[in-house]
Amino acid sequence: MSDEEYMKLLDRAFANARDLASNASDFVIPKVDSLIQGNKTIIRNLGVLADKARRDPKEMARYISRELGVPAGVEELRLIISGKFQAAELDMRIQRYFETYVICKECHKPDTKLERAGRGMLYLMCEACGSRYGVKNY
Ligand SMILES: [Zn+2]
Repeated sequence: MSDEEYMKLLDRAFANARDLASNASDFVIPKVDSLIQGNKTIIRNLGVLADKARRDPKEMARYISRELGVPAGVEELRLIISGKFQAAELDMRIQRYFETYVICKECHKPDTKLERAGRGMLYLMCEACGSRYGVKNY
């Protein structure tokens, strides 16, 4: 292989890598900023999480409450959870929320909405690719 051929090959490899990178969603699931105060855990950046997910903060409170099996409420865009929970655990739950209830499983984009239908059915609707599928209600 000549140097010229080799350079062409390299160019192509880099071009492919760039394509892959731009195809992958550059969406980053935000980290939880929490602190334990007495017998409560406070997620201080609920507003950021909800904004990023494009969900009502109350929706996220409802999910966290259901997941952890304890009451959780919204106060001034902070999530107040009864009980002590480590940031790593909360991060895991929030990550799962995004993976299941925000990011479209067909096109992997986060431009979605949740729709509650009758009989406790919950649907994820993707504005990017038009997919609509049922997800587990919470
Ligand atoms: Zn989609």
